[in-house]
Amino acid sequence: MTASNIPALTLHRPWPYCITGLYELVAKRVENRSWATRHRGDLLLHAGRRWNTRDLQAACRFVHVSGGRPGLIPAAEQAHPTGVVATVRVVDVCAGSAHTDTVVCGCGPWAMPGQYHWRIDQVRVLPSPVECRGAQGLWRPSPEVLAQVSAQTGVPA
Ligand SMILES: [Zn+2]
Repeated sequence: MTASNIPALTLHRPWPYCITGLYELVAKRVENRSWATRHRGDLLLHAGRRWNTRDLQAACRFVHVSGGRPGLIPAAEQAHPTGVVATVRVVDVCAGSAHTDTVVCGCGPWAMPGQYHWRIDQVRVLPSPVECRGAQGLWRPSPEVLAQVSAQTGVPA
């Protein structure tokens, strides 16, 4: 894969923090989406501007189900940076529960029923998030954004 075709995915806050900010045993390693992707490999994780306390409450419940304290996710919006906050690797996309109303696959406590489960690993958090606009679906970051990400994480190599 060349640097120029690494895609990005925008998540509403606080969901990015569930991937980047929690210790490994409780961290979110499944991205729930209503659509599948053929993409495998590096992906930029972009935190959108939208902030939603209902999502915060939902995320805290997932942390609890994962065995962590709900308070592990900061309640203050300012504690959740926007922009490209991390790179991850898409390992697989599970369709096992995409058409069911309960989770019937082995994707763990963050998996939602009726969703495709993008299984991720190799989370590299950026010390300085790279501000840029997000978009829907998989989108192509500019060369400038990719360069700033690469300088911090080594991704793309
Ligand atoms: Zn699954």
